[in-house]
Amino acid sequence: MNDDLKALIRTIPDFPKPGIQFRDITTLLLDAGGFAQTIARMAAATLGPVDLIAGIEARGFIFAAALAAPLNAGVLLLRKDGKLPGATIAEDYALEYGEDRIVMHEDALVPGQRVLLVDDLIATGGTARAAVRLLRKAGAELRQAQFVIDLPELGGADALRAEKIQVDSLLSFAGH
Ligand code: AMP
Repeated sequence: MNDDLKALIRTIPDFPKPGIQFRDITTLLLDAGGFAQTIARMAAATLGPVDLIAGIEARGFIFAAALAAPLNAGVLLLRKDGKLPGATIAEDYALEYGEDRIVMHEDALVPGQRVLLVDDLIATGGTARAAVRLLRKAGAELRQAQFVIDLPELGGADALRAEKIQVDSLLSFAGH
């Protein structure tokens, strides 16, 4: 399934550090038909109408923004700390070494709005789970998260499912 799109992902070994197989979506983005098909298939996999698509900085923005027109939804930016100009709410999450923080404008959504979470890839799910906590804290009705790529062995998709989120990905790669 989606082998045509999988062929457009470039794998770069040992980036950004030894042992990581980096799944590079820039080659998919360069392919007009492949990118269009990616968005069409993500749109087709979307559960029900949504009001907002929340994209995770930075590659998640690309897919969230492209989905906005076909889904007739707005785009909500989930950013790294210190980038948003207005008043924000934040959620911290653990990294392999240290901590990171994801933030959104505190008035970006009206409680009860239906939100679809989008990123390019889910690995351990640490980023996406922090995004879910943040969006729910803001009052979002969040039923689904979509990714272009899942690395199922890292367990992130299953961890999201345990939080009652439907997780859909177009592509899956074995290993890290
Ligand atoms: P995680 O929080 O572990 O699920 O990591 C997800 C984030 O890290 C995503 O925004 C990805 O862009 C990036 N990422 C993690 N692992 C990889 C990988 N093997 N190839 C490309 N991007 C990755």
